[in-house]
Amino acid sequence: MSETRKVHIKSFGCQMNVYDARRMADTLARDGYAETADPEQADLIILNTCHIREKAVEKVYSELGRLREMKEESAALGRTQTIAVAGCVAQAEGKEIIRREKAVRLVLGPQNIHRISELVARVNSGEAVVDTEFAVEDKFEQLAAPKPEVTRARGISAFVTVQEGCDKFCTFCVVPYTRGNEASRSAERILREAESLVSQGVREITLLGQNVNAYHGCGLDGRDWSLSKLIARLAEIPELLRIRYMTSHPRDMDDELIEAHRDIEKLMPFLHLPVQSGSDRILGEMNRKHTRAEYLAIIERVREARPDIAFSSDFIVGFPGETDGDFEDTLALVRDVRFAQCFTFKYSPRPGTPASSMSEQVPEEVKTERLYRLQELVERQQHEFNLSCVGRELDVLFEKPGRHEGQIVGRSPYLQPVPVMAPQSLIGTVARVRTSELRTYSLIGDLVGAPADRLAQNSHSEVNAFA
Ligand code: SAM
Ligand code: SF4
Repeated sequence: MSETRKVHIKSFGCQMNVYDARRMADTLARDGYAETADPEQADLIILNTCHIREKAVEKVYSELGRLREMKEESAALGRTQTIAVAGCVAQAEGKEIIRREKAVRLVLGPQNIHRISELVARVNSGEAVVDTEFAVEDKFEQLAAPKPEVTRARGISAFVTVQEGCDKFCTFCVVPYTRGNEASRSAERILREAESLVSQGVREITLLGQNVNAYHGCGLDGRDWSLSKLIARLAEIPELLRIRYMTSHPRDMDDELIEAHRDIEKLMPFLHLPVQSGSDRILGEMNRKHTRAEYLAIIERVREARPDIAFSSDFIVGFPGETDGDFEDTLALVRDVRFAQCFTFKYSPRPGTPASSMSEQVPEEVKTERLYRLQELVERQQHEFNLSCVGRELDVLFEKPGRHEGQIVGRSPYLQPVPVMAPQSLIGTVARVRTSELRTYSLIGDLVGAPADRLAQNSHSEVNAFA
């Protein structure tokens, strides 16, 4: 295959899709495809889709319409462009995508991305291909690892998927249907991937899973390991400075994981823990399998274990049957917890899920009004949280050069961007910053001490692959 082939991958939705897109790019690189950010330059265009809300699906179809026009213009100039749809819309819609949009030649589900090379070859020989059968083989083992220069270009923070799928069947959610049953990767393979990333300069790893804290992979000792055990082992990698994980389910927040927040310094004090609603009645209808009181008790226990922790969450407003009183319960829960950040959604009926056929669907204008009120509250809380970080000393992991000369930008433990005037040699290291001002979402500040001192103090390594 020619070295000049180019692939453009556009990802929608969650971080797991970002991870899948990268692994597809790594695998196609083995076949001679170079990544391009410009779809017009691409021989192969992959939309890596999300099915979680209706709007996301419609976005895909309108994007496909634009791509069809581009493909037709290219064809007029004698160039062939191949359009593929991957991700959860591909899984849910299957061949319907090719029926609705003839420009698409390949449809592949999230469990089939490791077959991308073979499927693209079939398309290139003239076939239109739909592959949405859940694969039995371990896809992660068959996907290519990134080349060292690619890892470096992606930056010091990387995702590693450790768990996929979901058996919880919340009544609003398509994930159990599009991503399949819950399955965890073995600790050995995760460690191998993490060590390889770290050897190529990665300093922060976010462990991903639809229900990441339900992780129960085969451990190095042959026994089932929990997420806390996996994190403890990853924390032993000297040059890995920070560990995060998402998305968690309240039901799987066990004692060991809460203790890990107390005991493992590299585990960042920021926890995304979706609750969806503050009303017990609605939580029951959603099949969340936890109550409001249980959620609040978890928050309290995590705060006891790690007093400087901050929380974020997901909320759905306008779930079928949600009354004004139920919605007030949600607002009250938000006031009780005081979140640092929240993602808020209007309920979107997903075909095939139990909630989509529930009576008492909430009118659109009521959903809109509730979303607006909830957003107003969570944005105020986010601002208050960010303000509470001003005037503090925070550890910052520096990621890249800033917009101004002599400036570099990093992230606080709470993921706020922190630009400071400092040498580029600090990129890839953690240094302490005294913050003095909040500008929109960024904390402005100055370095406190030399990073080497801090790192020695934290028994972190000073290795800086980006200097
Ligand atoms: N596993 C996570 C959990 O248990 O909370 C959530 C994963 S889901 C991919 C991300 C978020 O999308 C959910 O937390 C929920 O708030 C939102 N979501 C899922 N289905 C939705 C729907 N039908 N309508 C609106 N929002 C939805
Ligand atoms: Fe969807 Fe519920 Fe599973 Fe989360 S726990 S992925 S919301 S079914």
